[in-house]
Amino acid sequence: MKKTYGVAALALLLVAGCGSGAAEPPAAPAASTPAAGKAADAASATPSATPVQAAGNWSKWGLTALPPAPAAPADKPVKLTATGPVPVFSEVPTKDKVVFVTIDDGAEKDPKFVEMITDLKIPISMFLTRDIVKDDYGYFKPLQALGNHVHNHTTDHAQLSKVSAEKQKSEVCDAQTALTQQYGKAPLLFRPPYGDGAHTPQLNTSVQQCGPRAIVLWRESMQIHDMQYQAADKKLKPGDIVLAHFRGPKDLKGETMTEMFAELLRRIQEQGFAVARLEDYIQAPTG
Ligand SMILES: [Zn+2]
Repeated sequence: MKKTYGVAALALLLVAGCGSGAAEPPAAPAASTPAAGKAADAASATPSATPVQAAGNWSKWGLTALPPAPAAPADKPVKLTATGPVPVFSEVPTKDKVVFVTIDDGAEKDPKFVEMITDLKIPISMFLTRDIVKDDYGYFKPLQALGNHVHNHTTDHAQLSKVSAEKQKSEVCDAQTALTQQYGKAPLLFRPPYGDGAHTPQLNTSVQQCGPRAIVLWRESMQIHDMQYQAADKKLKPGDIVLAHFRGPKDLKGETMTEMFAELLRRIQEQGFAVARLEDYIQAPTG
């Protein structure tokens, strides 16, 4: 699919959000090494909600329970380094029947969504745009307290391939500073709006200068009711990263954030996948 950047970044944001639907070939992350035995040992220690509780919580939202995610792999399939170029990826190499849910921007701040995530304990990774969340940084803190991580999605959602190196750097670095200050931890990951510029040396340099250690794209993007797939067979694959947005009725033709998210979970459930935590499959730089 041809990328159609240009006319109005805002229109792209509203219609397609971060997703252009373009298939971006991911840079191959570090090759996975066989260490299945260790991962299996960790599984038995993982606590989970009782089946009765879980069933009740899912039905409250009109949903059938997803399969539980397997234990986090002991040997992380993606290993990040402390220095040097950052990898760009849209999926995680794993055979686990899991996908990863990422939610971008931060415009809609629906308390019902916090309730939903608290009930269902679906792991999410939040790529927040400073100027979109700064009126209420606090909204995202209960989501963070559930174990969900905050990542960097620029200061004002600029189309990064269209701005100067200096502006690009401030988009990443100033967001990194604000998000670190607000959420107490420096974002490990960065996502450029629309995926734009992800594979350019200039953006890679900007990201390296500001702190995040990987650029994360996606394989599927959630619309209002349907999932948009890059793969021709329109099926989820193990390790796929799914893009969604904090959006409300204004941008969802009257649907609420929780209705959109319930549809997202149905698309995953009907294909038999679990949702795992992206950060559990990534080894942060050591030292
Ligand atoms: Zn975005």
